Amino acid sequence: MGVETNESWKTVRELLDKAHERAARFLESLPERRVAAARNADDLAQALGGALPHVGRPASEILAQLDEIGSQGTVASPGPRYFGFVTGGALPASIAANWLAAAWDQNAFSETSSPIGAAVESVALRWVLEILGLPASAGAAFVTGATMANLTALAAARRSVLIAHGYDVDRQGLQGAPEITVLAGEQAHATLFKALGLLGLGRAQVIRVPADVQGRMRADALPGLTGPAIVCTQVGNVNTGAFDPVGAISDAVKAGDVWTHVDGAFGLWARASRRFDHAADGIERADSWATDAHKWLNVPYDNGLAIVRDPEALRGAMSLQADYLPERAGRDPFDYTPESSRRARGLEIWAAIASLGRDGVEALVVRSCRHARRFAEGLRAAGYQLLNDVVLNQVLVSFGDDRTTSEVIRGVQRDGTCWCGGTRWRGRTAMRISVSSWATTGDDVERSLAAILEVASGVKR
Ligand SMILES: *Cc1c(COP(=O)(O)O)cnc(C)c1O
Repeated sequence: MGVETNESWKTVRELLDKAHERAARFLESLPERRVAAARNADDLAQALGGALPHVGRPASEILAQLDEIGSQGTVASPGPRYFGFVTGGALPASIAANWLAAAWDQNAFSETSSPIGAAVESVALRWVLEILGLPASAGAAFVTGATMANLTALAAARRSVLIAHGYDVDRQGLQGAPEITVLAGEQAHATLFKALGLLGLGRAQVIRVPADVQGRMRADALPGLTGPAIVCTQVGNVNTGAFDPVGAISDAVKAGDVWTHVDGAFGLWARASRRFDHAADGIERADSWATDAHKWLNVPYDNGLAIVRDPEALRGAMSLQADYLPERAGRDPFDYTPESSRRARGLEIWAAIASLGRDGVEALVVRSCRHARRFAEGLRAAGYQLLNDVVLNQVLVSFGDDRTTSEVIRGVQRDGTCWCGGTRWRGRTAMRISVSSWATTGDDVERSLAAILEVASGVKR
Protein backbone atom coordinates (compact mmCIF):
# COMPACT_ATOMS: atom_id res chain seq x y z
CA MET A 1 0.00 0.00 0.00
CA GLY A 2 1.27 3.42 -0.94
CA VAL A 3 1.26 6.71 0.91
CA GLU A 4 -2.03 7.35 2.70
CA THR A 5 -3.29 10.57 1.19
CA ASN A 6 -6.25 11.87 -0.68
CA GLU A 7 -4.04 13.53 -3.23
CA SER A 8 -1.47 12.53 -5.74
CA TRP A 9 0.74 14.33 -8.20
CA LYS A 10 -1.73 13.25 -10.87
CA THR A 11 -4.47 15.53 -9.55
CA VAL A 12 -2.30 18.50 -8.65
CA ARG A 13 -2.80 20.26 -11.96
CA GLU A 14 -6.58 20.11 -11.59
CA LEU A 15 -6.31 21.43 -8.03
CA LEU A 16 -4.01 24.29 -8.93
CA ASP A 17 -6.26 25.21 -11.85
CA LYS A 18 -9.08 25.58 -9.34
CA ALA A 19 -6.89 27.62 -7.01
CA HIS A 20 -5.91 29.79 -9.94
CA GLU A 21 -9.52 30.34 -10.93
CA ARG A 22 -10.56 31.30 -7.40
CA ALA A 23 -7.56 33.54 -6.83
CA ALA A 24 -8.04 35.33 -10.14
CA ARG A 25 -11.69 35.90 -9.36
CA PHE A 26 -10.72 37.43 -6.01
CA LEU A 27 -8.18 39.75 -7.60
CA GLU A 28 -10.64 40.77 -10.31
CA SER A 29 -13.20 41.64 -7.64
CA LEU A 30 -10.87 44.05 -5.85
CA PRO A 31 -11.60 47.24 -7.81
CA GLU A 32 -15.31 47.11 -6.93
CA ARG A 33 -15.23 45.12 -3.73
CA ARG A 34 -16.33 46.62 -0.41
CA VAL A 35 -13.02 47.27 1.35
CA ALA A 36 -13.89 46.21 4.90
CA ALA A 37 -14.25 42.47 5.63
CA ALA A 38 -17.79 41.05 5.51
CA ARG A 39 -17.34 38.62 8.44
CA ASN A 40 -15.46 38.84 11.71
CA ALA A 41 -12.82 36.46 13.04
CA ASP A 42 -15.00 34.72 15.65
CA ASP A 43 -17.67 34.02 13.12
CA LEU A 44 -15.13 32.67 10.61
CA ALA A 45 -13.45 30.50 13.23
CA GLN A 46 -16.86 28.98 13.95
CA ALA A 47 -17.51 28.33 10.30
CA LEU A 48 -14.10 26.76 9.65
CA GLY A 49 -13.70 25.12 13.01
CA GLY A 50 -15.44 22.21 14.60
CA ALA A 51 -13.68 19.24 16.12
CA LEU A 52 -10.23 18.20 14.93
CA PRO A 53 -10.89 16.12 11.81
CA HIS A 54 -9.74 12.53 12.23
CA VAL A 55 -9.91 11.79 8.55
CA GLY A 56 -8.92 14.19 5.83
CA ARG A 57 -11.01 15.49 2.97
CA PRO A 58 -10.16 16.10 -0.68
CA ALA A 59 -8.07 19.22 -1.22
CA SER A 60 -10.48 20.64 -3.80
CA GLU A 61 -13.25 20.57 -1.21
CA ILE A 62 -11.02 22.33 1.32
CA LEU A 63 -10.09 24.93 -1.26
CA ALA A 64 -13.75 25.60 -2.05
CA GLN A 65 -14.59 26.00 1.63
CA LEU A 66 -11.66 28.29 2.23
CA ASP A 67 -12.61 30.47 -0.70
CA GLU A 68 -16.33 30.57 -0.11
CA ILE A 69 -16.13 31.20 3.64
CA GLY A 70 -12.62 32.50 4.10
CA SER A 71 -12.70 35.17 1.43
CA GLN A 72 -15.57 36.83 3.27
CA GLY A 73 -13.09 37.53 6.04
CA THR A 74 -10.56 39.22 3.80
CA VAL A 75 -9.95 42.94 3.85
CA ALA A 76 -9.50 44.29 0.33
CA SER A 77 -6.10 45.65 1.34
CA PRO A 78 -4.45 44.63 -1.94
CA GLY A 79 -7.11 46.64 -3.74
CA PRO A 80 -6.84 50.22 -4.98
CA ARG A 81 -8.75 52.03 -2.21
CA TYR A 82 -7.17 50.72 0.97
CA PHE A 83 -5.39 53.53 2.79
CA GLY A 84 -5.02 51.93 6.20
CA PHE A 85 -1.73 51.58 8.07
CA VAL A 86 1.03 51.65 5.41
CA THR A 87 0.18 48.58 3.48
CA GLY A 88 0.72 48.41 -0.26
CA GLY A 89 -0.73 45.68 -2.43
CA ALA A 90 1.12 42.97 -4.31
CA LEU A 91 2.29 43.54 -7.87
CA PRO A 92 1.03 40.86 -10.29
CA ALA A 93 4.59 39.74 -11.10
CA SER A 94 5.32 39.26 -7.41
CA ILE A 95 2.11 37.27 -6.83
CA ALA A 96 3.00 34.98 -9.73
CA ALA A 97 6.55 34.58 -8.41
CA ASN A 98 5.12 33.76 -4.98
CA TRP A 99 2.98 30.97 -6.47
CA LEU A 100 5.87 29.45 -8.30
CA ALA A 101 8.00 29.73 -5.19
CA ALA A 102 5.31 27.92 -3.18
CA ALA A 103 5.43 25.07 -5.68
CA TRP A 104 9.22 25.01 -5.62
CA ASP A 105 9.14 24.95 -1.80
CA GLN A 106 12.80 25.80 -1.58
CA ASN A 107 14.66 25.97 1.67
CA ALA A 108 16.52 29.19 1.04
CA PHE A 109 18.85 28.94 4.01
CA SER A 110 21.87 28.16 1.90
CA GLU A 111 23.24 28.00 -1.60
CA THR A 112 23.45 24.21 -1.30
CA SER A 113 19.82 23.80 -0.26
CA SER A 114 18.62 26.19 -2.97
CA PRO A 115 20.90 27.74 -5.57
CA ILE A 116 18.00 29.80 -6.94
CA GLY A 117 17.08 31.03 -3.46
CA ALA A 118 20.61 32.29 -2.91
CA ALA A 119 20.94 33.69 -6.43
CA VAL A 120 17.79 35.83 -6.42
CA GLU A 121 18.74 37.29 -3.06
CA SER A 122 22.12 38.37 -4.41
CA VAL A 123 20.58 39.97 -7.48
CA ALA A 124 17.64 41.54 -5.62
CA LEU A 125 20.00 42.94 -3.00
CA ARG A 126 22.21 44.56 -5.64
CA TRP A 127 19.14 46.13 -7.25
CA VAL A 128 17.61 47.31 -3.97
CA LEU A 129 20.89 48.93 -2.88
CA GLU A 130 21.12 50.77 -6.18
CA ILE A 131 17.51 52.00 -6.01
CA LEU A 132 17.93 53.13 -2.40
CA GLY A 133 21.32 54.71 -3.08
CA LEU A 134 23.02 52.68 -0.36
CA PRO A 135 26.60 51.35 -0.49
CA ALA A 136 26.90 48.51 -3.04
CA SER A 137 29.18 46.64 -0.64
CA ALA A 138 26.62 46.53 2.19
CA GLY A 139 25.47 43.21 3.64
CA ALA A 140 21.82 42.32 4.10
CA ALA A 141 19.31 39.89 5.48
CA PHE A 142 16.00 39.19 3.75
CA VAL A 143 13.64 38.98 6.71
CA THR A 144 9.92 39.07 7.41
CA GLY A 145 9.48 42.82 7.74
CA ALA A 146 10.79 45.99 9.31
CA THR A 147 10.34 44.73 12.87
CA MET A 148 12.71 41.85 12.21
CA ALA A 149 14.90 44.11 10.08
CA ASN A 150 15.27 46.49 13.04
CA LEU A 151 16.10 43.54 15.29
CA THR A 152 18.62 42.11 12.85
CA ALA A 153 20.41 45.38 12.09
CA LEU A 154 20.47 46.34 15.76
CA ALA A 155 22.03 42.98 16.65
CA ALA A 156 24.86 43.91 14.29
CA ALA A 157 25.00 47.37 15.90
CA ARG A 158 25.15 45.91 19.41
CA ARG A 159 27.95 43.59 18.41
CA SER A 160 29.94 46.25 16.63
CA VAL A 161 29.87 49.02 19.25
CA LEU A 162 30.96 46.51 21.89
CA ILE A 163 33.71 45.02 19.73
CA ALA A 164 35.10 48.57 19.62
CA HIS A 165 35.43 48.22 23.41
CA GLY A 166 37.09 44.83 23.16
CA TYR A 167 33.95 42.92 24.11
CA ASP A 168 32.33 40.13 22.07
CA VAL A 169 28.70 40.23 23.15
CA ASP A 170 27.60 37.33 20.98
CA ARG A 171 30.07 35.06 22.76
CA GLN A 172 30.22 36.60 26.23
CA GLY A 173 26.64 37.78 26.57
CA LEU A 174 25.23 41.10 27.73
CA GLN A 175 25.78 40.48 31.42
CA GLY A 176 29.08 42.10 32.23
CA ALA A 177 29.20 44.02 28.95
CA PRO A 178 30.03 47.73 28.87
CA GLU A 179 26.75 49.65 29.02
CA ILE A 180 25.39 50.76 25.65
CA THR A 181 23.67 54.14 25.41
CA VAL A 182 20.68 53.93 23.06
CA LEU A 183 19.00 57.00 21.59
CA ALA A 184 15.79 57.19 19.57
CA GLY A 185 13.50 59.99 18.49
CA GLU A 186 10.42 60.85 20.50
CA GLN A 187 8.35 59.64 17.53
CA ALA A 188 10.25 56.41 16.80
CA HIS A 189 8.09 53.46 15.76
CA ALA A 190 6.82 51.08 18.45
CA THR A 191 8.51 48.09 16.80
CA LEU A 192 11.92 49.66 17.29
CA PHE A 193 11.47 49.48 21.06
CA LYS A 194 10.36 45.90 20.80
CA ALA A 195 13.53 45.07 18.86
CA LEU A 196 15.67 46.85 21.46
CA GLY A 197 13.85 44.97 24.24
CA LEU A 198 14.46 41.62 22.56
CA LEU A 199 18.14 42.50 22.30
CA GLY A 200 18.37 43.08 26.05
CA LEU A 201 18.83 46.81 25.59
CA GLY A 202 15.66 47.65 27.49
CA ARG A 203 12.61 49.32 25.97
CA ALA A 204 12.55 51.85 28.82
CA GLN A 205 16.32 52.43 28.85
CA VAL A 206 16.21 54.29 25.54
CA ILE A 207 16.94 58.01 25.74
CA ARG A 208 14.24 59.82 23.78
CA VAL A 209 15.42 62.76 21.70
CA PRO A 210 12.82 65.53 21.30
CA ALA A 211 11.08 65.83 17.94
CA ASP A 212 9.68 68.82 16.07
CA VAL A 213 6.00 69.31 15.18
CA GLN A 214 6.27 66.95 12.20
CA GLY A 215 7.78 64.22 14.38
CA ARG A 216 11.36 64.66 13.15
CA MET A 217 14.12 64.02 15.64
CA ARG A 218 15.87 67.33 16.31
CA ALA A 219 19.58 67.10 15.51
CA ASP A 220 20.15 70.15 17.74
CA ALA A 221 18.58 68.31 20.68
CA LEU A 222 21.00 65.35 20.59
CA PRO A 223 22.70 64.96 23.95
CA GLY A 224 26.49 64.72 24.12
CA LEU A 225 27.32 61.11 23.45
CA THR A 226 30.11 58.75 24.37
CA GLY A 227 30.25 55.23 23.09
CA PRO A 228 29.38 52.50 23.06
CA ALA A 229 26.16 53.95 21.69
CA ILE A 230 23.45 53.32 19.11
CA VAL A 231 21.43 56.18 17.63
CA CYS A 232 18.13 55.07 16.07
CA THR A 233 16.75 57.40 13.44
CA GLN A 234 13.66 57.10 11.30
CA VAL A 235 12.72 58.00 7.74
CA GLY A 236 9.01 57.97 7.17
CA ASN A 237 7.08 58.66 10.36
CA VAL A 238 4.00 56.40 10.26
CA ASN A 239 1.74 59.35 10.92
CA THR A 240 3.27 62.29 9.08
CA GLY A 241 5.70 60.64 6.67
CA ALA A 242 8.43 63.02 7.90
CA PHE A 243 12.14 62.15 7.86
CA ASP A 244 14.64 62.59 10.66
CA PRO A 245 17.69 64.55 9.45
CA VAL A 246 19.73 61.36 9.27
CA GLY A 247 22.77 62.83 7.51
CA ALA A 248 23.18 65.60 10.08
CA ILE A 249 22.63 63.18 12.95
CA SER A 250 25.10 60.58 11.72
CA ASP A 251 27.71 63.28 11.05
CA ALA A 252 27.18 64.72 14.54
CA VAL A 253 27.67 61.44 16.38
CA LYS A 254 30.23 59.78 14.12
CA ALA A 255 32.71 57.62 16.04
CA GLY A 256 33.99 54.06 15.89
CA ASP A 257 31.83 53.04 18.83
CA VAL A 258 28.67 54.98 17.88
CA TRP A 259 26.33 53.39 15.38
CA THR A 260 23.58 55.17 13.45
CA HIS A 261 20.60 53.04 12.49
CA VAL A 262 17.73 54.06 10.22
CA ASP A 263 14.22 52.65 10.48
CA GLY A 264 13.02 53.33 6.95
CA ALA A 265 10.21 50.79 6.69
CA PHE A 266 8.48 52.67 3.90
CA GLY A 267 10.19 56.08 3.81
CA LEU A 268 13.49 54.70 2.56
CA TRP A 269 11.83 54.07 -0.81
CA ALA A 270 11.62 57.84 -1.34
CA ARG A 271 15.28 57.43 -2.27
CA ALA A 272 14.03 55.99 -5.57
CA SER A 273 13.36 59.56 -6.65
CA ARG A 274 15.61 62.63 -6.65
CA ARG A 275 12.52 64.69 -5.79
CA PHE A 276 12.92 63.85 -2.13
CA ASP A 277 16.63 64.69 -1.94
CA HIS A 278 16.02 67.70 0.30
CA ALA A 279 14.83 65.33 3.06
CA ALA A 280 16.49 62.08 2.08
CA ASP A 281 20.05 63.22 1.42
CA GLY A 282 22.68 61.88 3.77
CA ILE A 283 20.75 58.75 4.71
CA GLU A 284 23.49 56.75 3.00
CA ARG A 285 25.95 57.88 5.70
CA ALA A 286 24.27 55.77 8.41
CA ASP A 287 25.59 52.35 9.48
CA SER A 288 22.42 50.28 9.02
CA TRP A 289 18.95 50.51 7.52
CA ALA A 290 15.75 48.56 8.06
CA THR A 291 13.10 48.55 5.38
CA ASP A 292 10.01 46.75 4.21
CA ALA A 293 9.39 45.38 0.75
CA HIS A 294 5.79 44.44 1.54
CA LYS A 295 4.83 48.08 2.01
CA TRP A 296 5.85 50.45 -0.76
CA LEU A 297 7.53 47.97 -3.08
CA ASN A 298 4.21 46.09 -3.17
CA VAL A 299 5.35 42.50 -2.77
CA PRO A 300 3.37 39.87 -0.83
CA TYR A 301 3.92 39.36 2.90
CA ASP A 302 6.22 38.86 4.57
CA ASN A 303 9.14 40.74 3.18
CA GLY A 304 11.67 43.17 4.58
CA LEU A 305 15.40 43.83 4.52
CA ALA A 306 18.02 44.57 7.14
CA ILE A 307 20.93 46.31 5.43
CA VAL A 308 24.27 46.84 7.16
CA ARG A 309 27.14 48.94 5.80
CA ASP A 310 29.78 46.55 7.10
CA PRO A 311 28.70 43.07 5.99
CA GLU A 312 31.07 41.51 8.53
CA ALA A 313 29.25 43.21 11.42
CA LEU A 314 26.03 41.47 10.32
CA ARG A 315 27.69 38.20 9.50
CA GLY A 316 29.49 38.20 12.83
CA ALA A 317 26.19 38.51 14.66
CA MET A 318 24.25 35.99 12.56
CA SER A 319 26.59 33.31 11.24
CA LEU A 320 26.78 29.84 12.72
CA GLN A 321 28.81 26.69 12.29
CA ALA A 322 27.69 23.09 12.19
CA ASP A 323 29.44 19.93 11.07
CA TYR A 324 26.83 19.12 8.45
CA LEU A 325 27.16 22.48 6.71
CA PRO A 326 29.15 22.42 3.49
CA GLU A 327 32.27 24.45 2.81
CA ARG A 328 31.12 27.52 0.98
CA ALA A 329 32.42 30.27 -1.17
CA GLY A 330 29.35 32.28 -2.16
CA ARG A 331 26.76 34.20 -0.14
CA ASP A 332 24.74 31.86 2.03
CA PRO A 333 21.60 33.62 3.27
CA PHE A 334 21.78 32.04 6.74
CA ASP A 335 25.07 33.82 7.41
CA TYR A 336 23.10 37.06 7.57
CA THR A 337 19.66 36.14 8.91
CA PRO A 338 18.25 35.30 12.34
CA GLU A 339 16.40 32.35 10.75
CA SER A 340 17.95 29.23 9.26
CA SER A 341 15.33 27.35 7.23
CA ARG A 342 13.26 29.90 5.39
CA ARG A 343 11.27 30.46 2.23
CA ALA A 344 12.84 32.04 -0.84
CA ARG A 345 11.27 35.44 -0.24
CA GLY A 346 13.89 37.18 -2.34
CA LEU A 347 12.09 35.87 -5.44
CA GLU A 348 9.20 38.25 -4.91
CA ILE A 349 11.44 41.28 -4.53
CA TRP A 350 13.39 40.23 -7.59
CA ALA A 351 10.18 39.82 -9.61
CA ALA A 352 8.71 43.13 -8.43
CA ILE A 353 11.80 45.10 -9.41
CA ALA A 354 12.20 43.18 -12.66
CA SER A 355 8.62 44.01 -13.60
CA LEU A 356 8.72 47.70 -12.63
CA GLY A 357 12.27 48.53 -13.52
CA ARG A 358 14.05 51.32 -11.71
CA ASP A 359 11.82 53.92 -13.36
CA GLY A 360 8.68 52.02 -12.38
CA VAL A 361 9.68 51.98 -8.72
CA GLU A 362 10.26 55.73 -8.88
CA ALA A 363 6.92 56.26 -10.64
CA LEU A 364 5.08 54.23 -7.98
CA VAL A 365 6.56 56.35 -5.20
CA VAL A 366 5.97 59.65 -6.97
CA ARG A 367 2.40 58.70 -7.93
CA SER A 368 1.52 57.68 -4.35
CA CYS A 369 2.74 61.04 -3.07
CA ARG A 370 0.77 62.89 -5.75
CA HIS A 371 -2.37 61.02 -4.68
CA ALA A 372 -1.69 61.94 -1.04
CA ARG A 373 -1.42 65.62 -2.00
CA ARG A 374 -4.72 65.40 -3.87
CA PHE A 375 -6.42 63.94 -0.77
CA ALA A 376 -4.96 66.78 1.30
CA GLU A 377 -6.09 69.43 -1.17
CA GLY A 378 -9.64 68.02 -1.39
CA LEU A 379 -10.02 67.77 2.37
CA ARG A 380 -8.62 71.24 2.98
CA ALA A 381 -10.89 72.72 0.30
CA ALA A 382 -13.88 71.19 2.11
CA GLY A 383 -12.83 72.99 5.30
CA TYR A 384 -11.17 70.17 7.23
CA GLN A 385 -7.90 70.61 9.05
CA LEU A 386 -4.71 68.86 7.99
CA LEU A 387 -2.49 68.00 10.92
CA ASN A 388 0.72 67.31 8.98
CA ASP A 389 2.75 68.76 6.14
CA VAL A 390 2.02 66.30 3.35
CA VAL A 391 5.62 65.67 2.34
CA LEU A 392 5.28 62.02 1.36
CA ASN A 393 2.39 59.53 1.13
CA GLN A 394 0.79 60.20 4.53
CA VAL A 395 -2.13 62.51 5.27
CA LEU A 396 -3.47 63.30 8.77
CA VAL A 397 -6.83 65.01 8.89
CA SER A 398 -9.13 66.17 11.66
CA PHE A 399 -12.86 66.61 11.11
CA GLY A 400 -13.37 68.69 14.24
CA ASP A 401 -13.22 67.45 17.82
CA ASP A 402 -11.96 63.94 18.65
CA ARG A 403 -15.43 62.44 18.86
CA THR A 404 -16.41 63.79 15.45
CA THR A 405 -13.21 62.56 13.82
CA SER A 406 -13.67 59.09 15.35
CA GLU A 407 -17.20 59.00 14.05
CA VAL A 408 -16.09 59.94 10.55
CA ILE A 409 -13.44 57.18 10.63
CA ARG A 410 -16.04 54.61 11.67
CA GLY A 411 -18.40 55.92 9.01
CA VAL A 412 -15.77 55.69 6.28
CA GLN A 413 -14.95 52.11 7.24
CA ARG A 414 -18.63 51.18 7.31
CA ASP A 415 -19.30 52.85 3.97
CA GLY A 416 -16.72 50.54 2.38
CA THR A 417 -15.74 52.65 -0.63
CA CYS A 418 -12.31 52.97 0.91
CA TRP A 419 -10.65 52.20 4.23
CA CYS A 420 -8.76 54.64 6.45
CA GLY A 421 -7.63 54.16 10.02
CA GLY A 422 -7.32 56.47 12.97
CA THR A 423 -4.42 57.66 15.07
CA ARG A 424 -3.50 60.18 17.74
CA TRP A 425 -1.27 63.04 16.71
CA ARG A 426 -0.04 65.68 19.14
CA GLY A 427 -2.92 65.10 21.51
CA ARG A 428 -5.65 64.91 18.86
CA THR A 429 -7.54 62.16 17.09
CA ALA A 430 -6.84 62.11 13.38
CA MET A 431 -7.82 60.06 10.38
CA ARG A 432 -4.79 58.69 8.65
CA ILE A 433 -4.62 58.21 4.89
CA SER A 434 -1.65 56.28 3.60
CA VAL A 435 -1.26 55.85 -0.15
CA SER A 436 1.12 53.04 -0.98
CA SER A 437 -0.50 50.69 -3.48
CA TRP A 438 0.57 50.24 -7.09
CA ALA A 439 -3.13 49.77 -7.92
CA THR A 440 -4.46 53.15 -6.76
CA THR A 441 -5.49 55.40 -9.65
CA GLY A 442 -6.49 59.06 -9.75
CA ASP A 443 -10.07 57.87 -10.16
CA ASP A 444 -9.81 55.79 -6.96
CA VAL A 445 -8.63 58.88 -5.12
CA GLU A 446 -11.58 60.95 -6.39
CA ARG A 447 -14.08 58.21 -5.49
CA SER A 448 -12.57 57.83 -2.03
CA LEU A 449 -12.42 61.56 -1.43
CA ALA A 450 -16.08 61.92 -2.41
CA ALA A 451 -17.05 59.07 -0.06
CA ILE A 452 -15.06 60.55 2.84
CA LEU A 453 -16.58 64.00 2.33
CA GLU A 454 -20.06 62.50 2.09
CA VAL A 455 -19.60 60.61 5.37
CA ALA A 456 -18.06 63.65 7.06
CA SER A 457 -20.88 65.97 6.04
CA GLY A 458 -23.37 63.50 7.51
CA VAL A 459 -21.67 63.53 10.93
CA LYS A 460 -22.94 66.33 13.17
CA ARG A 461 -20.21 68.65 14.35
C1 LIG B 1 5.54 49.40 9.41
C2 LIG B 1 6.69 49.94 10.16
C3 LIG B 1 7.49 49.12 10.97
C4 LIG B 1 7.14 47.67 11.20
O1 LIG B 1 7.19 46.96 10.02
P1 LIG B 1 6.60 45.49 9.89
O2 LIG B 1 6.79 45.20 8.45
O3 LIG B 1 5.17 45.58 10.30
O4 LIG B 1 7.39 44.60 10.76
C5 LIG B 1 8.58 49.67 11.59
N1 LIG B 1 8.88 50.97 11.43
C6 LIG B 1 8.14 51.80 10.67
C7 LIG B 1 8.54 53.23 10.53
C8 LIG B 1 7.01 51.31 10.00
O5 LIG B 1 6.29 52.11 9.23
